[in-house]
Amino acid sequence: MPKLELVNLRAGTDSKEILRGINLTINNGQTILLMGPNGSGKSTLAQVIIGNPRYKILSGKILFNNRDITNLPMETRVKMGISISFQIPPKLKGIKLRDLALEIMRRRGIENPLEKLKKYAELLRLEDFLERDLNVGFSGGEMKRAELFLVLLQNPAFVILDEIDSGVDVESVGILGKAIRSELQKNGRSLIIISHTGIIAKHVHVDVAYIMLRGKITCYGPPTIVLNHVLEHGFARCEKCEGICYVD
Ligand code: ADP
Ligand code: MG
Repeated sequence: MPKLELVNLRAGTDSKEILRGINLTINNGQTILLMGPNGSGKSTLAQVIIGNPRYKILSGKILFNNRDITNLPMETRVKMGISISFQIPPKLKGIKLRDLALEIMRRRGIENPLEKLKKYAELLRLEDFLERDLNVGFSGGEMKRAELFLVLLQNPAFVILDEIDSGVDVESVGILGKAIRSELQKNGRSLIIISHTGIIAKHVHVDVAYIMLRGKITCYGPPTIVLNHVLEHGFARCEKCEGICYVD
């Protein structure tokens, strides 16, 4: 069954169309990898799915569990189980990671919050960060581990991880990959993993990889084929796709 469907979705800012007709279906339990060069619209797609009011839908639809969520506010989408990690997480001076984590779980009505806090902090090696202000002085890897920590706490049904592997040390990528595999890739959860390098795909299961260019999905295929193609040729060859991946 489809969990999320994007139907001819066009969106952008007041002055600019960024997503220019996206058709994409992600089924229950599926993980897709979304690749593409900088500026192709990957983060915009993530923000439009979660309902960031900065972006306007120009046409098309977003369906979640067959329900039209195109015009629902972000809080409703979060309550429905959609969760996102940010490419560039905000620094929150004066807000401790522990306090934010507990507040998120309180709002989502999560049971046994202290137990979850401990479990996920251990899994993501964040025990020493709980009393620190969120992301203030955190390294790249620490910030992305904290992002994934806040996602896991929400017990989401649908997860978008935006560049979870970029600017991250090798050890942290391993930690992130393990947590995604063990905690998110089960119970019918679906994931969109956005990565312009594809590094994280070596650590988690991916069903299909998609390439996005200038606001359109131009190609898809088995992850290893798409990934090897991108690593060998960059995205330049995707511009004039030679049918090595499966062209829709
Ligand atoms: P990616 O994540 O693939 O690197 P983005 O979605 O961040 O791409 O950006 C796609 C394009 O849209 C870029 O040209 C970017 O400058 C532009 N863009 C994204 N968000 C905004 C915004 N809030 N205002 C103006 N332009 C934006
Ligand atoms: Mg981005």
